[in-house]
Amino acid sequence: MDQVSHKEVTNKDTKISSNIIKADEAEVLYNTLKETSSKNLSVKILINELKNNGILNNDPRIRSFTNHLKYNLKNNDFITVEEFKIATKECFSIIKSALSGEFVIPDFEKFTSELEEIFNTVKKNKNGAVADYIPQLKKVSAEKFGVSICTIDGQRWSHGDCDDFFSIQSACKPLNYCLALEENGEEKVHKHVGSEPSGHSFNEITLDHMKRPHNPMINAGAIMTSSLVRPDLCPADRFEYVLNNWTRICGGSEPRFNNSVYLSELGTADRNFALAYFMKEHGTFPKGSNLQETLEFYFQCCSIDLTAEQVAVAASTMALNGMCPLTGEKVFNANTLKNVLALMSTCGMYDYSGEFFFKVGFPAKSGVGGGLLIVIPNVMGICVWSPALDKNGNSVRGIEFCQELVKKYAFHNYDSLARSDSKKCDPRKKDAEEIGSNIVSLIYAAYNGDLEAIKRYLIKGVDINQGDYDGRTALHLASAEGHEKCVNFLISKG
Ligand code: GLN
Repeated sequence: MDQVSHKEVTNKDTKISSNIIKADEAEVLYNTLKETSSKNLSVKILINELKNNGILNNDPRIRSFTNHLKYNLKNNDFITVEEFKIATKECFSIIKSALSGEFVIPDFEKFTSELEEIFNTVKKNKNGAVADYIPQLKKVSAEKFGVSICTIDGQRWSHGDCDDFFSIQSACKPLNYCLALEENGEEKVHKHVGSEPSGHSFNEITLDHMKRPHNPMINAGAIMTSSLVRPDLCPADRFEYVLNNWTRICGGSEPRFNNSVYLSELGTADRNFALAYFMKEHGTFPKGSNLQETLEFYFQCCSIDLTAEQVAVAASTMALNGMCPLTGEKVFNANTLKNVLALMSTCGMYDYSGEFFFKVGFPAKSGVGGGLLIVIPNVMGICVWSPALDKNGNSVRGIEFCQELVKKYAFHNYDSLARSDSKKCDPRKKDAEEIGSNIVSLIYAAYNGDLEAIKRYLIKGVDINQGDYDGRTALHLASAEGHEKCVNFLISKG
């Protein structure tokens, strides 16, 4: 046998053995999910388990699986183990990771049920008023309220009015700033716009000592960064370029353009024209900028409509350093993200930015449409949409939601320093060292009667018959503590 064919045989062998391992894993997963009493696994249970762990039916990463259910199995109620193996072949690792608690929020069901409680508390807040300086915006009901999240592993959950399209307004500013940075580089962009909180309202006529707008998160700064986004293109292509980039950070889901909001904004734009002329007078714009075109382009960007669900995915792309968790596409560079998140932290909430960061400690950007794009770096993106605003132009419920969130969870940037004396929970995946060995964790879950956790350890491949240092198994502990459901489950799988 010559060298080449020997290599081929080795490769083939490796392939076969890894297929066997995969097949076994799929079988373990299948049997864990299958109800003991039934012969085959219920598709409804499977879809539900995925949903509880944040993997939605329309997740592009499991498309081959959902298509298989739809077209090959014609949406049957049950799936055999053989069909399950075929259907999950291309996306098995995502499904397994989701169900075995390997994602950033392992107990996603518990976490989202707690978010729902926060949602219900915040919903009672009826303060604030819908923006009316852009006439079209005041037509939206102040009662609307939606919260959506997307983790860096693409676990999604939405509650309330999350499918409604709303006007993103100033929430377009971070994206335009990112595009300007990627095209021109930090040095050039910051010749034209500063990086300092203005200490004034979002549309104040003021420039810094270098005659630049203070930062890209207020109107003057956003008009400036817009002037730096593809000025070489004709207006139609330029706007399409921005829409395409929204689609990319939203994981392939397309935004809409709201022409009525655009016309309404254009018709009442005296302040923004004043800001632009003020900057023109001081020579702040890059050479060759066309003031009218720049303003129209900026208004178009503000008149994009997105749903809370889409904005949460966009925010998760920012939380994952520019890579969209649903598509794996790297949309922005790490340095771009570092810059935009720093400015969202210091300037994202207008004249409330300092206090906001002091209290909640994570970057966010609000818009007068009532949207709030929130980034918990390396964890998740969140969107809160509620149109009633406070005097600074920030969503009242959006701010309360953030405050409630950090009351309960260690999401403030500096919570990590206070970990030992903090009573806050941290829903993030712990290091192996922190949670101890898997068998100890499984036994602990049995002791607590946590059936979902038991299932996750089983899917992970932990041997449920193994005992701890005292020889006690999960079944011993579950029985001793009287957790009947766990006992029945452990007996059926043991
Ligand atoms: N389009 C709005 C404006 O230019 C955006 C302001 C905002 O959302 N704060 O006034």
